[in-house]
Amino acid sequence: MTDYDVIVIGAGNAGLTAATSLALKGTRVILLERHNIPGGCATSFCRGRFEFEVSLHQLSGLGTAKSPGPLRATLNSLGVLDKLHFVEMRDLYRVIMPGRLDVTLRANRNEAVQELQKKFPAEKEAIASFFDFVYKFFQEVIGAFYLNDPEISRQKYPLFFQYALADSQSILDKYFQDPLLKLALSVYWTYMGVPPRHLPFSDLAALLFAYIEFRPFHMKGGSQMLSNTLLDQLLRHGGTARFNCAVERILVKDGAVRGVKTEQGDEITARCVLSNASPIATYIEMMDRDEVPEPLITQMRSSTVGTSFFTIYMGFDCDPSELGITETTNFICATTDSDRDYTESKRLECDESSFIISCYDVSDPDFSPPGTCQAALVTMKYAEPWLRLPPSQYASVKYRCAEQLLARSEEVFPGLWGHLEEMEIATPITHMRYLGHPGGGPYGFDQYAKDSTMFVSPKPPIVGLYGAGAWYGSAGYQPTLMSGASAARAILKELKA
Ligand SMILES: Cc1cc2nc3c(=O)[nH]c(=O)nc-3n(C[C@H](O)[C@H](O)[C@H](O)COP(=O)(O)OP(=O)(O)OC[C@H]3O[C@@H](n4cnc5c(N)ncnc54)[C@H](O)[C@@H]3O)c2cc1C
Repeated sequence: MTDYDVIVIGAGNAGLTAATSLALKGTRVILLERHNIPGGCATSFCRGRFEFEVSLHQLSGLGTAKSPGPLRATLNSLGVLDKLHFVEMRDLYRVIMPGRLDVTLRANRNEAVQELQKKFPAEKEAIASFFDFVYKFFQEVIGAFYLNDPEISRQKYPLFFQYALADSQSILDKYFQDPLLKLALSVYWTYMGVPPRHLPFSDLAALLFAYIEFRPFHMKGGSQMLSNTLLDQLLRHGGTARFNCAVERILVKDGAVRGVKTEQGDEITARCVLSNASPIATYIEMMDRDEVPEPLITQMRSSTVGTSFFTIYMGFDCDPSELGITETTNFICATTDSDRDYTESKRLECDESSFIISCYDVSDPDFSPPGTCQAALVTMKYAEPWLRLPPSQYASVKYRCAEQLLARSEEVFPGLWGHLEEMEIATPITHMRYLGHPGGGPYGFDQYAKDSTMFVSPKPPIVGLYGAGAWYGSAGYQPTLMSGASAARAILKELKA
């Protein structure tokens, strides 16, 4: 008899939903987390009178009770939907390129189309056709791929077959002339981490379709509330959780897992292990080389560690309106050239980086203490240049980069700097430290088409060993929460068999 049926390594979104789903089905499950709180990226921290949201800017896939998105069903099946209070955002985003572009798209197809047509009258017809195309194409993606239609054929899903692997840039180029219009419609690429030239159009279409149809959301209490609620549900249904408890080894015998060994030296046995840690940690650091099938190593060699972020968490002593912030999500762009933007993400300096400012209090005035507001300024940054930085220079470079970004924010929201009451800065090194992932990657591997769920097998490479989360498919809240629940279903099947 094993100690548990299932051990879950890591209490990120996927680890939490997997463990909770399993506990709800009566499985004996233990969740082991190296940090002292649940959530991974989905956490918060306090400075002064602010509780800063670490990562959730826009929750996708939730929808409303009338028009539910897929995430709603997942949270409902976990018994947490009614325990959380969601806040709908009216805007998709505002895109600003100082002196050249300022456009706000509402989370409503007609309004978004009309606003763009007003700004770009010369491309009025193309804007309407593009949105028609996004909708028709993505509805085919849902049927052919997400609903796994057994009668899939080229005749039934012509757009899916023709464009599923097309890159986003070629579609934007096909429809539009004006680089500013292409920019306004493609800024979501930073939510995937690869620029439109490499981003499968199915991903860009998914982002536009899902955020418009199911609206972007936040939640009262931020993402920490989600993580705490999931943990609470796990414990109430007989699950066990241990914090400050990193897994050091995955124990394998005769090609099948039999448990784990923790950093403290405890051995815990189980029939299945699910890892929410990166595959690099899982297969290279926690296992011996001869225990890992060669094709898995080859597959990992062909992937690259994805981007991380440089983030400034800002608490202000005033309302957003005093700062001139009228929308929750603001993309501040330095260039219309997304390839150049992407190259900037591999540099240390932030003087030419595009960035996002998310001010939660615009949608939820109660998010911060009365008379204050908080915002996160985020720019994509890979870890390599930060890893090469001598420790003695780390703090000064970090503050220099923050100053560069704050100075550029001032151009858009004058007076912002003067209202700063609290500030904390996270670099890729910070994300590495708190998540334990290579490169501090909250998106996992670079999300090229070949690394997408279309191609990566959900089957465990080693008997009883499963993976879930951003490193094993798509990144973001909706995909990772759903991937944990789906891995739990696969594990239940194996346990029954
Ligand atoms: C600044 C920022 C902004 C973002 N904005 C958005 C957004 O607006 N919308 C959106 O959808 N997504 C957003 N994301 C992405 C999203 O947060 C992540 O993709 C998602 O939360 C990752 O979840 P995960 O399940 O892969 O687990 P992770 O969050 O990566 O957590 C993995 C967990 O495993 C634990 N662990 C690792 N190794 C071990 C070990 N050996 N033993 C025990 N535990 C271990 C870690 O401590 C961690 O808790 C953002 C991310 C960041 C950082």
